[in-house]
Amino acid sequence: MTIRLTINQVNPEMERINEAAAIIRSGGIVVFPTETVYGIGADAFNADACGKIFKVKERPADNPLMVHISKLGQLDDVASDVTDEFMSAAKILWPGPVTFILKRNKKVPDVVTAKLDTVAVRMPAHPIALRLIDASGTAIAAPSANISKKPSATRAEHVMSDFDGKVDAIIDGGHSAFGLESTIIDMSKERPVLLRPGAFTIEELEKYLGTITIPEYIDRESESAVAPGMKYRHYAPDKKLVVVSDNSMLLKLGSVKDKIIVLCSDEIADKIDGKVRTLRLGSEGNLYEIAKNLFDAFRKIDRMDVELAVVQSFPRRGIGLAIMNRILKASDSSEVGSIEELRKYL
Ligand code: AMP
Ligand code: MG
Repeated sequence: MTIRLTINQVNPEMERINEAAAIIRSGGIVVFPTETVYGIGADAFNADACGKIFKVKERPADNPLMVHISKLGQLDDVASDVTDEFMSAAKILWPGPVTFILKRNKKVPDVVTAKLDTVAVRMPAHPIALRLIDASGTAIAAPSANISKKPSATRAEHVMSDFDGKVDAIIDGGHSAFGLESTIIDMSKERPVLLRPGAFTIEELEKYLGTITIPEYIDRESESAVAPGMKYRHYAPDKKLVVVSDNSMLLKLGSVKDKIIVLCSDEIADKIDGKVRTLRLGSEGNLYEIAKNLFDAFRKIDRMDVELAVVQSFPRRGIGLAIMNRILKASDSSEVGSIEELRKYL
């Protein structure tokens, strides 16, 4: 049975936090909100409990979990060889939507790190997540709370549809503020390397970390050195999804059959509504709004009577880099470059 705990994210009810924390301490699984997406968590030092996460998520064993802490003082429990330089940056950037890959402390079980000698660590900027970690008295290993390869959960209803009856508790803390996963930066190399673009922009991170190397294969499926989880097709709705390289193609679509839906900004929808079905992601003037609505839109199209979703493209700067990464990972192909190519799908 799954207990559902509704908790106020501004002023969390401590008796409910304590109830969830007791479940973590006794080896159970709790789904909880963070500022990025919902996480599915267990005591990071309990190998059996962490093993259960892989099972209910249907996650491949070679895709390591992220470990969440609530205070910098916990860092030495999960990581080793942490430099003073890193600590100074972490003091500024945490709590926040950035995950760092650090040398691992051997106390962290193999199942969590997929036997790598590194560990992914984050301090989430969310009152419920921070209090839950504190009350549990341990670090919490938690990947995104979605069935593997599916869009991440940004609302409690998404989590309920994936995990009701499969986990011990689900905390309903409302909508996720960013709606996109954290940025992952590998700090175990000589220079910081981007493993996954995310909610914290590269431009902002570079102010504190110096130049961050961006591998050119970051958006593509790759067996190479990206975050292990990024080699898989990811975030994908069941319905077919294609992305256009040039948004002017959407204006030239003409009237197309109603089994197609275009996922786009309000600005583009205003121009094509009436000719094509659209699902609005928000205003182009606020890419954070687009990010927040993206996974919800992916889940919505699976419940709609459509065969194909066509997604517009966004500028690859700021949060746009992460938005495009998720859209490309979720689509079958790389960007569709011409109206003729797009027509093949229609
Ligand atoms: P999720 O929380 O579901 O977004 O998954 C955690 C992400 O962190 C996945 O993409 C993992 O591949 C990545 N990750 C976790 N641990 C490591 C690690 N030690 N090195 C590189 N990537 C990692
Ligand atoms: Mg995930």
